[in-house]
Amino acid sequence: MKRELKRSRKFTEVQEELRSSGAAIFTDAEGKESLYVLSPYHIDYVHSYAEDTPFFLGLSEGRLRGTRCPSCPYVFATPRGHCQFCGEPTEWVDLPLKGKVHAWTTCHFGSEAFLKETPYNLVLVEFEGVNSLFFSRLKDCTEKDIFVGMPVEARFADPAKLSVTDVWFVPTKPR
Ligand SMILES: [Zn+2]
Repeated sequence: MKRELKRSRKFTEVQEELRSSGAAIFTDAEGKESLYVLSPYHIDYVHSYAEDTPFFLGLSEGRLRGTRCPSCPYVFATPRGHCQFCGEPTEWVDLPLKGKVHAWTTCHFGSEAFLKETPYNLVLVEFEGVNSLFFSRLKDCTEKDIFVGMPVEARFADPAKLSVTDVWFVPTKPR
């Protein structure tokens, strides 16, 4: 049975047709035809957080968990299973939920997950009593509002998606 395929010289029209019927023919400037077909592709990726599990479960409880070396005692805002200085196994600690902007940048391009919120701000947050920085997003403000030393506080996704994007920061409002 013959199938009628839409032909177009505009690739945007070919893309539209692919979305509606799954196939279309693109005709180039020399009249040469190329058949395009849409082949949906899906993959289930099973990912283990392994020893980072308490960090992700913590996010779902509104807790930001880092690790501390019992002997140094260095506190890592981004959890590490072992101390990078002395090699000791670390222990879990709750980090403060308020900190300050240490450094930041605004992204005008983003991956698919961030397209809806682009442009978006990335920050390195420093916490009192914590020796390393935490990499996150800063929402509820624009590029021109941000400064180094700006007080910020954590917000958590509810319900949690069990992803690192479950936490982000917002400016702390002056009282
Ligand atoms: Zn150590």
